[in-house]
Amino acid sequence: MLYEYSNLYFPICSVVVSLLITILFFSKQNIKNKETKLYSKIVIITLIEAIYTFGLTLSVHLFYNDSTIPIFAIANKVLYSIYIIWISLLFVYFTKISNMKREYIKAFNIFALILDVVLILNVFLSRIDLVYLLEDKVSNSYGPSSIILYIGCAIYISFMVLISLITLRLQKNKKKYIPLIVLVIMMMVAMGIRLIDPYCNMLSNVISLIALIMYFTIENPDAKLMKELELAKNQAEKSNRAKSDFLSSMSHEIRTPLNAIVGLSELIQTNDNIEEIHEDAKDVVSASQNLLEIVNGILDISKIESNKIDLVNVEYKSSELFNDLIKLTNMRIENKEIELRTNIAEDIPTTLYGDVNKVKQILTNILVNAVKYTEKGYIDFNVKCITEKDNCKLIFNVKDTGKGIKKEQMESLFEKFYRAEEDRNSTIEGTGLGLAIAKSLTEMLGGNIKVNSEYGKGSEFIITLNQKLNREEQALIKEETKEIKYNDKKVLIVDDNKLNIKVAEKKLREYEFIIDSVDSGFKCIDKIKNKEEYDLIFMDIMMPDMSGVDTLKKLKQIEGFNIPVVALTADAMVGQSTKYKDVGFNDYLSKPLNNNELNRVLEEIFKNEEKVEQKEKKEDKNVHKVIQITDEEIEELNKILAERQREYSHNNLDYLKENDIDVDSALELVGDLETYNETLKLFLEENKDLLNKLEKYIEETDLENYSILVHSLKSSSKYVGFTKLSNIALEHEQKSKENDLVYVNKNYRELKIEYKKMIEIINNYL
Ligand code: ADP
Repeated sequence: MLYEYSNLYFPICSVVVSLLITILFFSKQNIKNKETKLYSKIVIITLIEAIYTFGLTLSVHLFYNDSTIPIFAIANKVLYSIYIIWISLLFVYFTKISNMKREYIKAFNIFALILDVVLILNVFLSRIDLVYLLEDKVSNSYGPSSIILYIGCAIYISFMVLISLITLRLQKNKKKYIPLIVLVIMMMVAMGIRLIDPYCNMLSNVISLIALIMYFTIENPDAKLMKELELAKNQAEKSNRAKSDFLSSMSHEIRTPLNAIVGLSELIQTNDNIEEIHEDAKDVVSASQNLLEIVNGILDISKIESNKIDLVNVEYKSSELFNDLIKLTNMRIENKEIELRTNIAEDIPTTLYGDVNKVKQILTNILVNAVKYTEKGYIDFNVKCITEKDNCKLIFNVKDTGKGIKKEQMESLFEKFYRAEEDRNSTIEGTGLGLAIAKSLTEMLGGNIKVNSEYGKGSEFIITLNQKLNREEQALIKEETKEIKYNDKKVLIVDDNKLNIKVAEKKLREYEFIIDSVDSGFKCIDKIKNKEEYDLIFMDIMMPDMSGVDTLKKLKQIEGFNIPVVALTADAMVGQSTKYKDVGFNDYLSKPLNNNELNRVLEEIFKNEEKVEQKEKKEDKNVHKVIQITDEEIEELNKILAERQREYSHNNLDYLKENDIDVDSALELVGDLETYNETLKLFLEENKDLLNKLEKYIEETDLENYSILVHSLKSSSKYVGFTKLSNIALEHEQKSKENDLVYVNKNYRELKIEYKKMIEIINNYL
């Protein structure tokens, strides 16, 4: 009896060992990477295999007789399937730790799956040749099916050996493979022994031993955790070092102009010579500007690096962008003997859509550098484009005949605070941030920057940026606009800025709407409560006292309220549409109203009625024809009248243009000269108290109301063509929203000066 049961000693050993590994492995905190997950599967299969082998061996001893042979044969086939799954898992584990290319790992995994299916089918489809229980209750295998099984296992083993031999050379951690090679050898020995002596079945023990060795070598959770911790520590140290480097170079950069400011200011205090004081004051201004540039650069860089900069996509005129860049470069050239040669391709679309301010910032940095690092010669500024579907790839090429850059310095050019040949360039002002910012912004816009340079001869920067275009769409829809009229529909415009109302009215009149307007959310609610009927409400978002969103919430609480409400805002940001729809608006339109968008929204809202109207229109066509001539005549007469009015009027548009006021865009926005003049008057009236209010808000540090006011100034300035004031207001709006009181305080003066200048110009003009 004792002798018989001695056959159970090996399986019992396997159960104990595999149970131990399972408890040890799962009771510890594990790293959740792919190979450890695979190892956990190997541990589980190992335990199943050990328990199964033990159960089977015990059952054979207890129940074996002639009638139970077929049952035991099937039970043995299950055991073989477990072996197959186990070896294939080990194989997959091997491929995972091998650092092979993903595609290869994938291919090997598919291969393992196919081989598994073939081998398991082979086990189950064979009759008795594969598994045969010997008379003394020991199972053995023989025949063609068992040969196939052995070949399958041999394939797995040889692949594992091959993979480890090939990738071992490339691995840093060569130790990883040593236990696995030992395991492979052990498996081969165990199978060999089994082939020679079928009574000696050590396979189960080898399997649990392999799992045990793996646990104590490559899959030890403690060792793995420590390794991960070390990696994390190295990473933290690296970023800490980068931060310290950044801080130390930043404080060095800031200290230089600051020392100059302090030193020169002290000199001014004790100096009586007025000329020298003037000179010193000039230097103080220059050092302060340099300091401001550094601080702005640092803020930009840190914002970019922490992903805090959003894209603000707007529709813009490409020619304006190029003109601004050319103007700025000419200004920088001043007295230098540099010729600026420009070549702007004619096929560049007139209207583009994208973040124009970032494009400008990138190109400004590159062009300013070209001027700074060129003493004489020329700067070539070429722009080309490749249009494809709705995309326009702009290719900027800035080539100069300046100092050039040494080959070995090219790699570091785009690093923060890097200045090539700092000693030679010490007279040239700079922070070493321009190219770093340009590169990061370019990448943000999905473009790239390349440099070619020959030291002593000049440099060439090639910047590629993608912008969107929607010219054709616009043209198509514009034509449609003329067809669609909503003459029996009544709309309500809610906006605190009268100028905005005026411009929206002008646009909506083209659709023959009946238009009503109010300047606050409260008045809008009153109108609805008083049962005034509207087909559509346009709601401004940023209004003092009650915002558009709050007004909408209140409207929705009114019983029976079902008028569509469209948000109107000057925040041209991507993804706003869903934001406003989420809070309950039917749609969203950005100011100034764009024909395309307005058409789309109106079509969406009046989807069903519109078709009926167009039909009706077709029936009325003849009537229209009769009066069409008169309409045209009236239009013609109006034109002539307007022309005369312009000729004889004291209002001189040239005066505005001379003062850099973008009259053309303003006329495009508001329609005709008469409305433009009215808009200017309204601008004066609306903003009468602007500066007092703004100053009050600054004093009270009430940046919320400050941002509402500059937001309104931003859009009204745009309507009258005060582009610079509008841009300044935009900056103030963004900064005040970020609660940047320092910026507001520092730059309020600039806003004030520009505003006063514009008011003076309007007064002179009117
Ligand atoms: P900086 O404020 O010093 O100009 P940038 O980041 O804009 O900083 O440029 C980094 C360095 O690259 C500059 O210090 C200069 O040495 C070099 N560089 C940039 N543009 C040019 C150019 N057009 N010609 C020669 N050198 C240039």
